[in-house]
Amino acid sequence: MQPSMFNVRVPLEPASGGGDVFLMNTFTDAQVIVSSDVASLLDRLAADASASLTSEEQSALATLSEHGFVVDDRQIERTKVEAYFREVREGTDQLRVTVLTTLQCNFACDYCFQGDHGDYNKFADKMTLETAGRVAAWIEQRLDDVGPESFVLTLFGGEPLLNLPVAYYLCERLWNACAARGVRMMVNVITNGLLLTPEVVDRLLPFGLNGVKITLDGDHDTHDRMRPLRGGQGTFDKIVENVRRVADRCRITVGGNFDESSVDSYPALLDFLREQDFADKLAKVAFKPVIREPKPVQPKGFIPLTAVANDGRPLNGTCMTSAGGGTSVCGSCNFLDEKMAFLREETQKRGFHTNDGVHMGPCEIHRRHAHTIAPDGSLYACPGFTGDKKQSTGHIDGRRDDIRERAASQFERLAAWKECNDCAFIPVCAGGCTVAAHTELGSMHRPNCHKTSFEAGVVSLAREAAARELATAN
Ligand code: SF4
Ligand code: SF4
Repeated sequence: MQPSMFNVRVPLEPASGGGDVFLMNTFTDAQVIVSSDVASLLDRLAADASASLTSEEQSALATLSEHGFVVDDRQIERTKVEAYFREVREGTDQLRVTVLTTLQCNFACDYCFQGDHGDYNKFADKMTLETAGRVAAWIEQRLDDVGPESFVLTLFGGEPLLNLPVAYYLCERLWNACAARGVRMMVNVITNGLLLTPEVVDRLLPFGLNGVKITLDGDHDTHDRMRPLRGGQGTFDKIVENVRRVADRCRITVGGNFDESSVDSYPALLDFLREQDFADKLAKVAFKPVIREPKPVQPKGFIPLTAVANDGRPLNGTCMTSAGGGTSVCGSCNFLDEKMAFLREETQKRGFHTNDGVHMGPCEIHRRHAHTIAPDGSLYACPGFTGDKKQSTGHIDGRRDDIRERAASQFERLAAWKECNDCAFIPVCAGGCTVAAHTELGSMHRPNCHKTSFEAGVVSLAREAAARELATAN
């Protein structure tokens, strides 16, 4: 017997359990608080698998084994993890499709050169109703081929609500397609919030609207500086008002992008949200670092996390500032270790649900039956790659060419986690964000590691578990 390679532990502070240890297994998701004796027992077992044990110790090990903290053989455990990633890849229970209804945007964000800057919107792709018809037919075929229990449609952009005819058409047609096949359908919308009205929500609710994610980049003044309209007008008040008007009707997630210049304004944003009459209706509040190009210019103070870049240019495809953290296509690009941990705790302190920093993946790029469709019908493995046409893996009309074939085969063999040796976070990380690895490290097959972020997440889980234990004891 050996301790599992996926055990992580946090010694608890004396006030919350003198000498006790929080133990978590990232593969089985078991979480327990044990005495330091049990932790020492695991250490002894690690040092000598055939150590002689008292009957009490044997019984403790039997319990630990039931929860996956102790395994017969680490090689077998590794084989199980490989099988787990195969299951994730091949799973047919859910079909997920993200449709970029348009790459146009009505904001002129400080950190983004697309959107309503210059001529961008004049040339940015917008899906036609004719293409939407072919997208729907392609999805219907996937529903027949895959036979999922549920179908998740995410409307994304640019700003997806700038193309409402396509949004409504897809939701209505696919709702009927799912109903005819006995498939449960859920619709998520990732929007900047400016065009989010009760009318839009009411129109989508009968067709499976599950949640809407909007973005606030800091407190009032910071957000208005970061996400203005082209004329410089602020957008904070309008978005908050829109949220207020729809909060009774659907699940709202608030996201936000911070950099070093704005991170300190987030506690004020959280205080503001807490005071609102819709505070208790927010399904989730979760922030992540702003996405910027790493090179050639990295202005001082910018946090060096990049999710999208194409030949040195950022964000030519979808707006990844809206992704992650809630009603979203991906949550595991939410990294920036200590700042993330700080904001997570500030968010939790005010009673909002947020990401725990540990259960972050594997993200949808590891699923065969998760697709992103660009406005022209090109297929991508995840929204983060839509800025680079060389990464398109196919097209809804079935066209094939060398570039797409090559891209598809690259994504087919993604397994950066295999380079991660015996890291305890492999089951929840899978080697990190593939887009960030591709952009920052030049290879999508290398891990993009933010282990300290996971470690900070485990510390938060440990504190919560200790607080729960204390509350139960009192
Ligand atoms: S690869 Fe990165 S951007 Fe793409 S879905 Fe995964 S975490 Fe999100
Ligand atoms: S990328 Fe880092 S945290 Fe993620 S599995 Fe690999 S070594 Fe672990």
